[in-house]
Formats: sequence, C-alpha cells, structure tokens
Amino acid sequence: MAEQIQEITCPECKGAKNIDSFHNTGIDVEGHHYGPSPCTRCKGTGQVPQAMLEWIKNGELLKAARVERGESILEAALRMKVSFSTISKVELGKQPASDFPNYTDKP
Ligand SMILES: [Zn+2]
Repeated sequence: MAEQIQEITCPECKGAKNIDSFHNTGIDVEGHHYGPSPCTRCKGTGQVPQAMLEWIKNGELLKAARVERGESILEAALRMKVSFSTISKVELGKQPASDFPNYTDKP
C-alpha cells in the first residue's frame, strides 16, 4: 500500500492557487503587466505536502548560516555543483535540504 502524503493548504497563496505578480515579457515592454499567475510554491494546486513546513523552517536556518559564513548564493551553488535556482528553492523551502547533505559544509 502506498504511503499517503499529508497535504496542507499552501502557506504562500493560502490555497488560492494564484498569486498576483508582475509579468515581465522581456523586450516587449508593452506586454508587461500585473496579474495573477500560478503560485510557484504549490505549482497552482493550492496544496503542499505537510513536510514543506519543515523545509521552510530548515531553509531559513540554512540561509542564515550561509549569510553568517559570508557565502553568496552563487558561491554556494558553485561549491555544491548545483544551480543558482536550486539553492534559492532550498532556502525558500520549496525543496527539502535533505537532498543536499553538503549544504552546510565550510566553503
Ligand atoms: Zn500556493
């Protein structure tokens, strides 16, 4: 039997699934507009796994520790050989830090 994943209401959009944000369409400045887009935390579902609350708490601690040791997001990404956006996702709690055991290694 598959393990049931506990889902909770997304803490970012409060279950609304969309978040108002600025849409930058690039060179075509006429296309820039402000409006709803799917929430990036829950990917527009309004629900997240309950474990994400833990990821968010962890991410804040990891970010604080990184800033404390004077390492930039880019430096951390290069050291861990992951992308800039991966670091950002972990620190925002969108991805579990347990995927990256070397996160807190000294640079
Ligand atoms: Zn959401």
